[in-house]
Amino acid sequence: MFFSNGQEFKETCGYEINGVWYPRVTKIVEIKSKPALYKFYAEVKGDGENIIKLSADEGTRIHEAAEKILTGKSIDIDSSIRPAMEAFRQFIEEQAIEVRPEHIEQRITHPEHRYSGTTDALATINGKFGVLDFKTSQSIYRDYNLQTAAYMEAWLKRIPTLETRWIMRIDQTKICFSCGAKLRPKGGREKIRPARDMNNRAFPLCNNHEWSELQGEIELQEFPEWKKDFEAFLGAKRLWEWEYEYWLERVGYLVPTL
Ligand SMILES: [Zn+2]
Repeated sequence: MFFSNGQEFKETCGYEINGVWYPRVTKIVEIKSKPALYKFYAEVKGDGENIIKLSADEGTRIHEAAEKILTGKSIDIDSSIRPAMEAFRQFIEEQAIEVRPEHIEQRITHPEHRYSGTTDALATINGKFGVLDFKTSQSIYRDYNLQTAAYMEAWLKRIPTLETRWIMRIDQTKICFSCGAKLRPKGGREKIRPARDMNNRAFPLCNNHEWSELQGEIELQEFPEWKKDFEAFLGAKRLWEWEYEYWLERVGYLVPTL
């Protein structure tokens, strides 16, 4: 990434809290290479940036709607994300997921390790209290564990009773009535994936899909062990600090010596 001055670097890569600047968790984890992303760019032949932007906008709309649903605010849900949000509302009710309004979209800081981030929510699920992060991707990727481990460690400074963390994937797809394939409209393109059997073998696609209406899809996964992920996050942070040494020196950031 390129920056024209220190101010731009600070605004893009961090938050200033009470006069102290902290690098942002989501920027730090970007330092890790994502091989799947190269495959994606090759597949979409030059449309990558546009698809990513549109998907990000959709992700933002879903996050905002989820936060409003959790706080019990009545909202007008954009028709483009309605199936996903109806599924979300139903899931929250059925699983009796509890979230306090003051635990939604909170900025959190780790003063010793010097980073900051914004968590989607702290929630109580099945009697456990933890960090809940929303994703709108097509699956739950292992990389997310770096981000949520950083949130866990920062929150534990303030709330020592925090026990665990979850990723909740909020999505919407159409299903083919004849071959079971899934169609996922995202970022202005439609991706079709075959149904799979118990051994993860793909069923053949039919020649003439008959698609259902868009259906919401919610997936919740708990990741109770975060210590190793946190070590990996700190490793990523060291690498990030090395990569941006030039700018970090200019903005007066001191690399923590813990
Ligand atoms: Zn089909």
